[in-house]
Amino acid sequence: MEHTLPELPYAYDALEPWIDAKTMELHHGKHHATYVAKLNEALAKHPDIAGKPLEELLANLAAVPEDIRGAVRNHGGGHFNHSFFWAIMAPKAGGKPTGMLAAAFDASFGSFVEFQKAFSTAALGVFGSGWGWLVTTNNPPRPTSERVEAGKQQTTNNGMQKLQILTTANQDTPLALGVRPLLCLDVWEHAYYLKHQNRRADYIEAWWHVVNWEEVGRHFSE
Ligand code: MN
Repeated sequence: MEHTLPELPYAYDALEPWIDAKTMELHHGKHHATYVAKLNEALAKHPDIAGKPLEELLANLAAVPEDIRGAVRNHGGGHFNHSFFWAIMAPKAGGKPTGMLAAAFDASFGSFVEFQKAFSTAALGVFGSGWGWLVTTNNPPRPTSERVEAGKQQTTNNGMQKLQILTTANQDTPLALGVRPLLCLDVWEHAYYLKHQNRRADYIEAWWHVVNWEEVGRHFSE
């Protein structure tokens, strides 16, 4: 079964004025479509693994045959990352998260505003092409004996999912690091060059207005 380009859950112009229609059209219809086509091309050489979930392949790239490992990493990563990215944006979105997710931001970063600052700084600092991510380490509860040994760390974590900011280069995914993504920001130039040229900071600033916190919250509670 071949991978397919997912339809956007909104129109190309739906994220205006924050993200322009032309960028969305090229980004989804050309860039993302090419990742999907090249992923399928690579997997066609190994029908035995072609049916595996993409997440599984990306989480364990070492198990992917060497001759297509690079293609799966780059194009499979591109497919996963962009599919994730479209869904965590929405028209008339932005603002702040609520509920458990809001509490997790406070616990992990001090406040939501502090998180936003740190995330923007991390995304701005990606050298060349890559992604900014919010992930959760989602450690399973420890057995009681370990809990005692863990001491202070356990009392501060208090069983809550720990949120963390990280960045990946190119189309690398956090799945390969064994963490669960909640939110991502594409900082490749193709994501913003038409509207903002070299001003990545302006793009990041605009992007906060279209973050779909409901979807991020869904990933968080999964
Ligand atoms: Mn992109």
